[in-house]
Amino acid sequence: MTEAPFGLPLHRLLPLDGMSAVLLGGYHGTWVPATEATQLTLDSASLGAGVLAALPADRCGLTETARVLRYLALQSAGQCGPCLNGLPRIAAAFTTLANPGPQGSTRTDVARWAGLVEGRGACHHPDGTVRLVRSALTTFAAELDAHASGFCTAPDRTPLLPVPQET
Ligand code: SF4
Repeated sequence: MTEAPFGLPLHRLLPLDGMSAVLLGGYHGTWVPATEATQLTLDSASLGAGVLAALPADRCGLTETARVLRYLALQSAGQCGPCLNGLPRIAAAFTTLANPGPQGSTRTDVARWAGLVEGRGACHHPDGTVRLVRSALTTFAAELDAHASGFCTAPDRTPLLPVPQET
């Protein structure tokens, strides 16, 4: 944990050399390209839970997002439709996007399902999850194209972002 003053340039807090993207605000936050993050200060960034994570250029943002989405989809009692049906479906589809190969309509399906769950839960868990999904679809658009063509540009697919082990 680090205390930092508002107004501090993000790159002074989080070294961005060799990074491809930054996750602002934790798992209910947003991915932004590292080139965009270098322009941000702490007060201009939407920091949500106050958690920042940088993605090295040799890691796959889609793979990381898919793992986090599976974790988020499992973090509810499934009492509302978006968590019972929507988030597990989105998480499973995102795993398809994270694996290079034919993806059919999965990309547009994920975007459409994100719109269907937004604002429909009794709390904001689905909304935060959808925020992460949408930012991944835009920030990693080039990687999505690569995966759809059957290859991944990230040589290291070792898990990076921490999620609890499933029991
Ligand atoms: S929307 Fe909130 S309250 Fe409803 S099931 Fe999901 S986490 Fe639980």
